[in-house]
Amino acid sequence: MNDYERLADIIFPDILETIDDLEKRYPIRNLPDGACVTRFAPSPTGFLHTGSLFTSLISWKMAKQSNGVFIFRLEDTDTKREIKGSDIDLLTQLDIFGINPDEGFMGEGNPEKGNYAPYRQSDRANIYKIVIKDLIKRGLAYPCFCTPEELSSLREYQEKNKLNIGYYGEHAKCSKLSPSDAISKIEQGIPYVIRFKSRGNSLNKIKVHDLIRGDLELSENDQHIVIFKSDGLPTYHFAHLCDDHFMRTTHVTRGEEWLPSLPIHLELFNTMGWTAPLYAHLPVIMKQEDGNRRKLSKRKDPEAAVSYFLELGYPTEGILEYLLTIANSNFEEWRLQNMNSNIFDFNLSFDKMTLDGALFDLAKINNICKERLSRLNKDEFTLRALVFAKQYDNDLFEIINKDVDYFKNIINIEREKDNPRKDYEKFSDIYPLIKFFYKDKYDELLDSCDVLPFNELLNKSDVVNVINTYKDDLGIDLPEEDWFNHLKEITVKCGFCDNMKEYKKNKEAYKGSIADISEIIRVSMSIRKNTPNPYWVLKILGKEEVQRRFNLIIKKLGY
Ligand code: GLU
Repeated sequence: MNDYERLADIIFPDILETIDDLEKRYPIRNLPDGACVTRFAPSPTGFLHTGSLFTSLISWKMAKQSNGVFIFRLEDTDTKREIKGSDIDLLTQLDIFGINPDEGFMGEGNPEKGNYAPYRQSDRANIYKIVIKDLIKRGLAYPCFCTPEELSSLREYQEKNKLNIGYYGEHAKCSKLSPSDAISKIEQGIPYVIRFKSRGNSLNKIKVHDLIRGDLELSENDQHIVIFKSDGLPTYHFAHLCDDHFMRTTHVTRGEEWLPSLPIHLELFNTMGWTAPLYAHLPVIMKQEDGNRRKLSKRKDPEAAVSYFLELGYPTEGILEYLLTIANSNFEEWRLQNMNSNIFDFNLSFDKMTLDGALFDLAKINNICKERLSRLNKDEFTLRALVFAKQYDNDLFEIINKDVDYFKNIINIEREKDNPRKDYEKFSDIYPLIKFFYKDKYDELLDSCDVLPFNELLNKSDVVNVINTYKDDLGIDLPEEDWFNHLKEITVKCGFCDNMKEYKKNKEAYKGSIADISEIIRVSMSIRKNTPNPYWVLKILGKEEVQRRFNLIIKKLGY
């Protein structure tokens, strides 16, 4: 046994398995040609970030459309940052979007799924130890005894002398220790971490290929990174690499913030003699603010958390659709030609991926979601509104349950058309927009309203006259066109103009126009300036209720 082997045995006395054993335990997958094995590998350190939803969507879709495998792996080696329960939250929120893993962590209490288990890094410590033991035996990893003080004075020295920062080359003090010196320090009980012994030189360039960015030249790694911490767990750089190898990942799809560390990962792959997976570093989601672009930030932007969209009741398919528009430049064109297709019929590709940071555009999300919600039929819309309301919106829950059919009539106004009404961006929009349909809510609205939202240019007495003239014969049973003609008669009777062109030419001759008449009726029925077509509001409210409301308005106006 040579000194390196002795050192490896002293550090990992219980590790008897070898890399060959791991290769056998986790065999090459038997998948069709072109199948992508991808993974989403979050650290359970908080909520699902909108950027992570984007990454996981792309990873999942790439696996799905190629008949591959999508893995959910928990990267929990940074125990200090771990937030209890966030593993479940991440999985649950992905599930709400229909992004379900084929393999991996399946939730607390459920067995993990797949032959490449375990899928939680903290349960894989033995695997990493086997690989590190091999590196130590080969003299390619070593214990480092530097204290935090030594490391910070090294940093100060490097900063002062304008040198590259880090543990590398001549600065990698412990890499110069002989195995027997290292053994004696270990025997003295001096704490240590294990570092990878890089053989690179940062002045050299390496060529790397990224599926999105093409061929790139990056500086070679020379950092002796920590691969194993004193808490008995590996670092991200090392752990994810072993996992991607032994889970037989073919495509690493992750945020572009990892691109600068790619040289480390590639050197490690080379050192191990393993073939690196293909890489696609996805654009980071950016926000435009005061003319500047910046990363969507957990601290500043509520929309950085996926929960923001869930709590407001955005339709999940709208959010996914939006993310596909920022993923692939040809998605929108495809969508226009396939308005009613499932978005996942679209074939996503890496080479159509946006290169620069993708710009997050809430207005666009709203438009897409509005469109999606308008295309649900009344039953589906109601069911989904109810699911949302049950969790997030008591008021909405209450009104739906009061009378489901009444609710359906309201949200069905001008829905069953080729170009349906687009009233709602999200389910939380419903209640404020439709509450006036409910008697008690209308009364509350009226009570709390200081100034009724009628056109200020109209005389109060004219408004009252219009309501009085219309009140007794609402035309509620007439077909829409006849009802409108009936309204024209009321218009003329009240001294208003029933023809907009004529009115514009000759305003002084009239008290107002047909548009004003329509608004008076609308406002009186709803205390709102914007509602669906008053004809339908009228029909849903019914004669008695409309007349009751008209009387209340007249009273409120002091007549
Ligand atoms: N755990 C890493 C993260 O938090 C995953 C990076 C990767 O996908 O390689 O983003």
